[in-house]
Amino acid sequence: MRAMQLAVPGELLQLITRYTGTPEAGQILVRVSACGVCRTDLHIVDGELPALGQPVIPGHEIVGRVAAIGVDVEDFQIDQRIGIPWLGWTCGRCDYCTTGRENLCDDAKFTGYQLDGGYAEYVIADSRYCFAMPDGYSDAEAAPLLCAGLIGYRALGMAGDARRLGIYGFGAAAHIVAQVAKFQGRRIYAFTRPGDLEAQQFARELGADWAGDSTATPPAPLDAAILFAPVGSLVPAALRATAKGGTVVCAGIHMSDIPSFPYEILWGERRIVSVANLTRRDATEFLALAPTVPVITTIETFPLARANEALARLREGRITGAAVLQLA
Ligand SMILES: [Zn+2]
Ligand SMILES: [Zn+2]
Repeated sequence: MRAMQLAVPGELLQLITRYTGTPEAGQILVRVSACGVCRTDLHIVDGELPALGQPVIPGHEIVGRVAAIGVDVEDFQIDQRIGIPWLGWTCGRCDYCTTGRENLCDDAKFTGYQLDGGYAEYVIADSRYCFAMPDGYSDAEAAPLLCAGLIGYRALGMAGDARRLGIYGFGAAAHIVAQVAKFQGRRIYAFTRPGDLEAQQFARELGADWAGDSTATPPAPLDAAILFAPVGSLVPAALRATAKGGTVVCAGIHMSDIPSFPYEILWGERRIVSVANLTRRDATEFLALAPTVPVITTIETFPLARANEALARLREGRITGAAVLQLA
């Protein structure tokens, strides 16, 4: 099979050909038809997450068809369309795993990081962490649901019942979360890179009640803010924009350092929380919810061999919606 592989963080991915492999017990072999390009991939490629000392095939928003099934797999059939998300394996025994918090498992393995991902023609996955995908979406349209959608959904849950919701960074996750939040009757305040009028217009088209620069003061105090942009200085900015009792949710896996700030902007029972990974319950809930909203994904597709270009465009903030590698 062909795959785009990262040999050393900080370098470009290389197109390689390698053995496809066969599924072991509990695993399935999946022929990839689309794989989303997530900001986490960029953090791995740029060396902002710990290097693992081995080549990585990135990609954890995988949609494909089951091509082969290992023994002890009962839930899936050959040719069935399935999705593979970031959470690829957990121990099932630790305190986190046994209390509904498998997203925090210390021994968890993640797709496209510890496990080979979907920047490839085929991928092998543990079937217990794969999901049937909702109808009504093409493979490429469905791919961003698997991380931008799932992590966004988990972040939205952390925002509680906030009526006025701020969203900092209007990329792949925000464009999905905004639709869900509007569906739930919330007001949306979208914050973008200063001067990014295109992203602000995109936010308004998706239902944002207000859109402006991340440095701006919103017209009303926020009940909660979700930060998708990996920019630590946005944390005090979001605290300042948030009303007493409000929550600032940091939704990315990596963020630049948060500058020091006066206690008074946290005072008043404001909270800062982070969102880590996803649970399989998040996936089941969100994949059922998405078609009822209905969430509509805006995508830009690239062939597998142009993964580096997709990553570069994402790094520069020049993707509207979500970037997706399309293989079939
Ligand atoms: Zn565990
Ligand atoms: Zn992701």
